[in-house]
Amino acid sequence: MNSYKNFSEKLEKVRNNGLSLIDNVEFFLDAIEKNKDLNAFNFIFPDATGAAKKISQKIKNGTAGKAAGLVVAIKDNLAIKDKPLTCSSKILKDFRSLYTSTAVKKLLEEDAIIIGKTNCDEFAMGSSNETSAFGPVKNPYDKTRVSGGSSGGSAVAVAANLCDVALGSDTGGSIRQPASFCGVYGLKPTYGRVSRYGLTAFASSFDSIGPFANNISDIKLVLDLISGKDVNDSTSYQLLISEQNETRTKTLKIGIPDEYFGEGLDQGIKIKVENVINNLNKLNVDFVSISLPHTEYAIATYYILTTAEASSNLSRYDGARYGFRAAGISNLDDMYTQSRSQGFGTEVKRRIMLGTYVLSSGYYDAYYRKAQKVRRLLKQDFDNAFEKVDLILTPTTPTTAFKIGEKSDDPLEMYLNDIYTTPANLAGIPALNIPIGLSKNNLPVGMQLMANLFDESKLFYAAQLIEKIKENINER
Ligand code: GLN
Repeated sequence: MNSYKNFSEKLEKVRNNGLSLIDNVEFFLDAIEKNKDLNAFNFIFPDATGAAKKISQKIKNGTAGKAAGLVVAIKDNLAIKDKPLTCSSKILKDFRSLYTSTAVKKLLEEDAIIIGKTNCDEFAMGSSNETSAFGPVKNPYDKTRVSGGSSGGSAVAVAANLCDVALGSDTGGSIRQPASFCGVYGLKPTYGRVSRYGLTAFASSFDSIGPFANNISDIKLVLDLISGKDVNDSTSYQLLISEQNETRTKTLKIGIPDEYFGEGLDQGIKIKVENVINNLNKLNVDFVSISLPHTEYAIATYYILTTAEASSNLSRYDGARYGFRAAGISNLDDMYTQSRSQGFGTEVKRRIMLGTYVLSSGYYDAYYRKAQKVRRLLKQDFDNAFEKVDLILTPTTPTTAFKIGEKSDDPLEMYLNDIYTTPANLAGIPALNIPIGLSKNNLPVGMQLMANLFDESKLFYAAQLIEKIKENINER
């Protein structure tokens, strides 16, 4: 049951009557139920079978869209009309969306089937999915460990075969880091390639929507379907992957930045990444050592700028406009204070306070303005590098999945996990997590490829090369 390599093979099987779409959806619903303890979903949509019926008919009639029967899980910070949208926060408990986000709408227009909404860190703030009001998401490889965050539910839904693909959001690594911890592909597209309309804003100049999948061809398919200019997001851009297919004749040149292989990187991960490099070397890929000298400032810059943006974005949750309101208070100011105090969790409050601090008049120049300048320097590091290389290869995370509870009392330690992923968001460039096998203690290891703006096709080209050497890199 459900044995297919990727979506195009699945569609082939459905067309040849070898696979019923209704059975397929029921299989996933059943798998979600059986894996409830992973806590990957906040909401399940049993009406997905109804959609499967309609779409099966469309496939028979030859009127189905490009994603006909693709079963998708959606992170619970993306709007779907009339469905809950909680961002895994108490403050949005019982809130339902009034409209559908552009990315989801585009999938639905191509006859994808939405199976449910996935658990995530509260308002996408976190690296372990432990800040969710719905509780932590467990790692399917070891249930005592975290799934990664903030899109942990989406990563687990794909890793545990509870859907075909999933959507997540990535502000500083929230697609790539959980993808790495759970052994699946996860792409953060170029900022602006996918419309943010209907994505609950965390840090608007960083947020990107992207796919999770078990194979690179499904990543490519979903990206192509959700991309494009949208009148509802002035930062969105029209450039489809299918319009820029990579037909490569010359050697691929990949940069290895020293700064990503230093202190703090787990030796086992380092060895596995080096093994990939050695194997790719045999496939006409050239490697050069490069430097991204401002990397050490990425985390500080990221946390100053994103908390500043978050403190502004989250001011709309005041107890009056959305969701939760503290009970029994007659004074307006107290109602705001109490609704926010009771509605938000600790991590979200920490970010709002940090963001308000760095934006306050006495500290704006020292923190916010400085961080804006460093952001530019980090971007310049990448501009310089991409004059010399096509892609940059790094580990995705410094460690494999850690234990639930291990870092939750130490926010700084938690933030350090984002060291390799935040630079891509600061620069707006695309970055992909590629699973490269298991560590000695049987936990997934991930590798990251970064490309220049709108160069996703190069990421896909390299990922396909890596698929060819899978056997060699999977040995432990
Ligand atoms: N872990 C990072 C943070 O906590 C990234 C979050 C994200 O990408 N949404 O901010």
